Amino acid sequence: MKLLTTNFIKCSVKACESSNKSFPLKYSNDCQLELNFEDDDEIVQSSYEFLIGILDKIEWEALLKVCQDLGNNDLPPNKPVLNEDVSNLNDNEKLILKQLFNLLVNTEIVEGSMSCDSCEHIYQIKNGIPNLLLPPHLS
Ligand SMILES: [Zn+2]
Repeated sequence: MKLLTTNFIKCSVKACESSNKSFPLKYSNDCQLELNFEDDDEIVQSSYEFLIGILDKIEWEALLKVCQDLGNNDLPPNKPVLNEDVSNLNDNEKLILKQLFNLLVNTEIVEGSMSCDSCEHIYQIKNGIPNLLLPPHLS
């Protein structure tokens, strides 16, 4: 699963829906990542609008927390504010977008697990696919 996905999944246990501890899930420190960093600037550029749209929706605090779980403390503490006009991006903004592209889209969590801070249920990630199904007594 792409790192971006971590910003959109929370615990599926019903009792956790109202808990603010069920998002983001906590990622185990044995998670295996696969990085496929894109160096082709044209591919990155063709994704600028997508990335700016995604950046708008992202919960930055949650992203910071997940990145910390995965051993990455390089993100700025606050969500970057970018020019929405793609044709007017400055070099610094382009660099930020490239880094976000590589972090969110080109970083895959292939193996590991994630757990809910509220109910402590553990969800496995295998072959890049998170298993969000619950055993019958929880669903
Ligand atoms: Zn839960």
